[in-house]
Amino acid sequence: MSDHSVDVSPEPATSLQDWKETEIGSVFVSNYPPYSFWNEGAVKDVPKILDTPSPSEDIPLGLYLHIPFCRKRCKFCYFKVYTDKNASDIRGYLDALATEIENYSQKPRFRGRCLHFVYFGGGTPSYISAKHLIEFVDRIKRVMPWDRAEEVVFECEPGT
Ligand code: SF4
Repeated sequence: MSDHSVDVSPEPATSLQDWKETEIGSVFVSNYPPYSFWNEGAVKDVPKILDTPSPSEDIPLGLYLHIPFCRKRCKFCYFKVYTDKNASDIRGYLDALATEIENYSQKPRFRGRCLHFVYFGGGTPSYISAKHLIEFVDRIKRVMPWDRAEEVVFECEPGT
């Protein structure tokens, strides 16, 4: 009788196992620079960069908006998502996110600049209501217009 057992190490893409540490290759790259390049010494540089105007108007500016809500959690998912939030919770989150973007838009690095790329990811951006989405988008476009953006991405889940 042959042994059909296979040694399958758990990995975040196919298990619900929590990993104690984030290592290269153990998660999607969800931010830039990736976690593996973060270090304590660089943290102090962030405010300095935000307070310095962009070196050139030709440098394209992109914005990623994380919408961490889903109808239900898929087994293979290892993103940070919530499935138990109501309309009021979601609205609170969108308000806070819009306020954060309004604050950043006043920083010298971003002031007066238009967006070249906008990415709504999650989570499930299509889970939020049209009313909330319109209010949210209107607020952001007031401070960071994207009428001439080259790309706008909006992730959807078929059920929503
Ligand atoms: S819809 Fe996407 S983000 Fe939401 S739980 Fe499923 S895989 Fe994760």
